[in-house]
Amino acid sequence: MKPLHIPSLLNAPAQTVELEIHQNLPELETLTPVRGRIAVKHCRTYLEVSAQAETIATLTCHRCLRHYNQRLSLDTTELIWLEEEAEFDDDLLLERELQLEDFSEKLPPRGYFDPETWLYEQLSLALPLQQMCQSEDCETITPQDTPSQTVVDRRWAGLEALKRQLS
Ligand SMILES: [Zn+2]
Repeated sequence: MKPLHIPSLLNAPAQTVELEIHQNLPELETLTPVRGRIAVKHCRTYLEVSAQAETIATLTCHRCLRHYNQRLSLDTTELIWLEEEAEFDDDLLLERELQLEDFSEKLPPRGYFDPETWLYEQLSLALPLQQMCQSEDCETITPQDTPSQTVVDRRWAGLEALKRQLS
């Protein structure tokens, strides 16, 4: 997925570009490619990005540290404010009856929207905070017992023999 040039979205039918997703994301370890679709709509002062996607993520259990698979599905819409400056235009927000809190991100209006990075972020947010493998023998790994005292390091064998001779 290539980054989308934001102003070009205005030339698309209904100012919306739809992308089919069927690929692996380099930063997310998954058993199957991420499948689904993303729609990016240019609403003049903000982008409306919605996605339905699913994949099977390969996670590491926080308790037993084994890898396990978990189905991840995403069905989300995010509004991205288009603004050069960090300031929000209160009048525009009022006009559109939108709250500042509705926008979690901001992009320059003449810049690019990167659907791949966005998708990665959304899927990362969808990951469970507590990753547990749910297997029956999942338990906390305890440090291995120290090797038995009877196993003598070969470097000490000579010393042991000398000790025996002296006693
Ligand atoms: Zn586990």
